[in-house]
Amino acid sequence: MIRIDDILEKVSGRFGDKEIALLQKATVFSARAHKGQVRRSGEPYLSHPLEVASQLADMNLDATALTAGLLHDVLEDTDVTAAELRETFGKDVAALVEGVTKISRVQESSPELQRAETIRKIILAMTDDMRVIFIKLADRLHNLRTLKFLPETAQKRIASETMEIYAPIADRLGMGRIKAELEDLAFRYVEPEEFFRMASLLEPRRKKAEIALAAFRRTLGRKIIESRIPAEIEGRIKRPYSVWQKMKTQKIEFGQVYDFMALRVITDSVRNCYQVLGLIHQNWPPIPGRFRDFIAMPKPNLYQALHTTILTEDKSSFEIQIRTAEMHTLAENGIAAHWRYKEKDAQALVMEDRRLHWLREMVELFKEQRDPKEFLKQLKINLIPEEVYVFTPKGRVISLPAGASALDFAFRIHTEIGLHAAGAKINGKPSPLRTPLRTGDIVEIVTAPEREPARSWLSMAFTSGARHLIKRRLNQRDLQRAVALGRKLWEREIARFRLPPGFPGGNDLLARLTDVVPVPCRSLENFFALVGRGKIILSRKILERISPPGLEPRRKGYVGGLSEIQVKDRSRELVRLAKCCAPIQGEQIIGYLTTGKGITVHAGRCPRIVKELLSPDRLIEVSWGDLTPVVYKAGIIVSAVDSPGLLAKVTAAVAGQNADIVKADVATFAENKALIRMTLRIRDIRHLEAIRAEIARIEGVVSVDRT
Ligand code: MN
Repeated sequence: MIRIDDILEKVSGRFGDKEIALLQKATVFSARAHKGQVRRSGEPYLSHPLEVASQLADMNLDATALTAGLLHDVLEDTDVTAAELRETFGKDVAALVEGVTKISRVQESSPELQRAETIRKIILAMTDDMRVIFIKLADRLHNLRTLKFLPETAQKRIASETMEIYAPIADRLGMGRIKAELEDLAFRYVEPEEFFRMASLLEPRRKKAEIALAAFRRTLGRKIIESRIPAEIEGRIKRPYSVWQKMKTQKIEFGQVYDFMALRVITDSVRNCYQVLGLIHQNWPPIPGRFRDFIAMPKPNLYQALHTTILTEDKSSFEIQIRTAEMHTLAENGIAAHWRYKEKDAQALVMEDRRLHWLREMVELFKEQRDPKEFLKQLKINLIPEEVYVFTPKGRVISLPAGASALDFAFRIHTEIGLHAAGAKINGKPSPLRTPLRTGDIVEIVTAPEREPARSWLSMAFTSGARHLIKRRLNQRDLQRAVALGRKLWEREIARFRLPPGFPGGNDLLARLTDVVPVPCRSLENFFALVGRGKIILSRKILERISPPGLEPRRKGYVGGLSEIQVKDRSRELVRLAKCCAPIQGEQIIGYLTTGKGITVHAGRCPRIVKELLSPDRLIEVSWGDLTPVVYKAGIIVSAVDSPGLLAKVTAAVAGQNADIVKADVATFAENKALIRMTLRIRDIRHLEAIRAEIARIEGVVSVDRT
């Protein structure tokens, strides 16, 4: 069993006396709390927190993280309380242990929900303090190392959870060493048959492969020394899991796996990485399609290295990775390698780190996606993405999840570019913003200052980041419109009740409104928004209660003196045309405040207006304003004496007025009567009247009415 002294040894260079004392204190505390408890392996429980702390020491983490690692199970498995932890070890350690405990306590009805909820907890904990996930990964790693002692069902559950949650997260954080070990350990429990098949394929070749590897390593080493490049070379046989994965993703047999022998060259500079690469390619032919330059194009988790696979004289092949020492540390420990908690606010760090872009997207995803099925789907895209790499016109590489569109690209470049994106040029060719991008595309975004997101943009954006920004802008604009509309309605009522303009103004108004309006208002803006959305109706009762006594409206009913509310743009969410009467531009219209929806515009001829079915309190005067030309649909019904060619004459009349017919049908009745129903596309009410007049002139037509 590992001892605390082994851990102190590892950190002796980094930690001072105070920190060493803290770790010793935590060890004693943990030992006492877990006293009498035994791991399934038969070892005293304390071995587990010690292993976790040791792992955290290997990740180069600080004393707070190591202390929390030593204590990470005391809340879950012993009588120790959070308050006790806070008192003894301070709030940081206590918060970390609580964060870890919350993740282990997730209990959901189905495995799917369980998984979604676990990830949600992990992500939220990470945004608070990244160290929670480091501890959780160390915890998981040791649990997997001792998984053989658990019953089979638990083995399966823990292993598959590792494959689906913890390994991808470790990968996302660039923690290659832990990711690889987690996958290797979980593999044998998740896919036992495949694991043993791989092992039986690899094992007989191991001896020969090791000899070949050592020989090639010596040859390569000599060449590198001759060229005076400082370098270290490591050789290894690939792990069963990574060989298996390669076979699966590339759909190849074991015999076709070239590179289960791999070498790693670690040198001192980027320049020398390419020098080594050149040297290798000069001496051994590279296998086409196997060279990848992750130095020029880092992976999204910022992994950097050159990868190539070469063929030797005796036809064996080796995969070679070339990187600097710095890149190597980053590839092994990822984000933990440079995680300096104290320098800055943890949240600020999370927001800044490019590797954590996905984390921010996931946080947004939680906020917007309540449906667990959809959530899991999105999660998969975010957590295990297939990436496409595209270029800006200046040659900067942008990585996006596969399926991302030009619009996603625009938002990734800059929020403002996304919000005003008007079109895209992909490889120089004008393309719609919804176009999915492919690796290698050069993408240029054309912006226009007047362009603004519309609701339809949501179907063009794939990444949750872009979707979030679009939604946010739509909501902002919606709010602005509601406030403007509410203010107008308020001013109209002031005028109608002969109150001085600006009455009573500012905070005074807000104070008077409390207790009077049915919905609490946080601010004046909030009040106007609620009025604009029809959630508060400025009824006479409300106005009487906040005004001086003797309040009298100028006129009864809805006909106010203002007509500033203009139906300018049909697409504006807060002013919409009623479906029941479908008013057409130029017609007499009246607005009706619909709760939560703003103003619905009805035609004066609408039966609901004529029969006074709508509450007069909510009616407001509106005008058409200066509309940009819009096409309306209108239905007409022609009653006529049936005669040959009647329909042809009617359609000719419509066409003569430059209107389109959307739909037409004819019904004939006894006594030679015919009814033609048509749906037309027209410009405005005058256009419709002209068409009606034209049809009425046709011989045999009795009447032309609107439907
Ligand atoms: Mn544990």
